[in-house]
Amino acid sequence: MNASHFNIHPQRFSRNALTVVDKLQRQGFEAYIVGGCIRDILLGKHPKDFDVATNARPEQIQQIFQRKCRLIGRRFRLAHIMFGRDIIEVATFRASHSDALGEHQAKRNDDGMLLRDNVYGNIEQDAERRDFTVNALYYDPQNNTLRDYFNGIEDLKAGKLRLIGDPVTRYQEDPVRMLRSIRFMAKLDMFLEKPSEQPIRELAYLLKNIPPARLFDESLKLLQAGQGLKTYRLLRQYGLFEQLFPALVPYFTEKGDSFAERLISTALTSTDERIADKLRINPAFLFAAFFWYPLREKVEVLKNEGGLNNHDAHALAGTETLNLFCRTLAAPRRHTATIREIWFLQLQLQKRTGAAPMRTMENPKFRAAFDLLMMRADIEGGDTVELAKWWHEFQLSNGEQRTQLVKEQQRLHPQPKKKYFRPRKRPKQKPTE
Ligand code: ATP
Ligand code: MG
Repeated sequence: MNASHFNIHPQRFSRNALTVVDKLQRQGFEAYIVGGCIRDILLGKHPKDFDVATNARPEQIQQIFQRKCRLIGRRFRLAHIMFGRDIIEVATFRASHSDALGEHQAKRNDDGMLLRDNVYGNIEQDAERRDFTVNALYYDPQNNTLRDYFNGIEDLKAGKLRLIGDPVTRYQEDPVRMLRSIRFMAKLDMFLEKPSEQPIRELAYLLKNIPPARLFDESLKLLQAGQGLKTYRLLRQYGLFEQLFPALVPYFTEKGDSFAERLISTALTSTDERIADKLRINPAFLFAAFFWYPLREKVEVLKNEGGLNNHDAHALAGTETLNLFCRTLAAPRRHTATIREIWFLQLQLQKRTGAAPMRTMENPKFRAAFDLLMMRADIEGGDTVELAKWWHEFQLSNGEQRTQLVKEQQRLHPQPKKKYFRPRKRPKQKPTE
């Protein structure tokens, strides 16, 4: 159908995506702009990225784009065409996995999950293996036409998310589709039709089959896309949050008001606000907040039962908590290092005498640590509120005022004088002549 009916014309697409389509078509291949970007443009939103689908095989794409092209993926082979920092993802049309012909190339595990998905096909088959009807839209800029194989445009107008095919099978093939259902509900403010919604609770456990590195990427897309709080609530509602964060399950309450749950909500709200204000966000901060109270509980156990001092207990509890977290979501090392630093700084923030405050403030992660302290103050009240106020004032003060603030602390909390063991002086020996 003619795309101009929907106020769609080539100028609304990325120039790089248009270049890729044009080059492929000039070489005699079919090529379309496809997927979420068309859905977003129809909704009047700015697409996050542009994807292209073609009947050219990955090797043929490589030949056309040469050094601009990188082939990636095992489960799903793709070509990335690079334009500086902008990347256009080009996927070869794929066939439905039930295609008996392709059975040897579409491997499944015992839970029905697809381990490889490299059965090539034509455009109709490609549309069929996409997840949602609203994501199976193809745009040809050459003649400004749209192809809509499953009434995606109608669903989009009705605000309805509908999986293509049998929902149970589609979730079994790729359990991440359950997370995508939640993500699109929150991001697009659409509802999930009953048959696509109903099996999720029962199939949520299938996420255990997904590699932790992929789940980590998905969890960022879920929680750091501007609708974190809403997404979190939906994940809880559908029993998916506990699959991503099993270590947090003991902190779930009916009212959702345990310290841990309140900190999760506060951290997500603040992340959403920062995204709305176009400020930078740091995934480490979010996860440091998620696990702060579970960490604190572990620290207490290690101190009481293991006889460790506060510092050692924190270090050990930090390692154990991060190991548990990474078992389901494999966070890259740079993130876990930052999470650890933010936790460690919660201890440093307690020290308000001598040179400690200035040293703490110079730490590159001070800002994130202070933000966490502020959130904790809201939840814990009492001494934490006083501590957060003090740091707030300390930051706003000049050098002289800071010295006063530190002196006052020294007066309020005098440190016991450290007793040094002084070695006995050896009696001087008379030089013998
Ligand atoms: P966004 O870019 O806003 O996250 P999107 O729909 O573009 O949303 P991508 O992950 O960029 O999502 O994927 C591009 C397209 O590839 C989708 O629109 C969909 O057609 C298809 N797709 C992606 N992931 C899957 C999946 N797990 N199963 C089936 N089809 C998928
Ligand atoms: Mg996309």
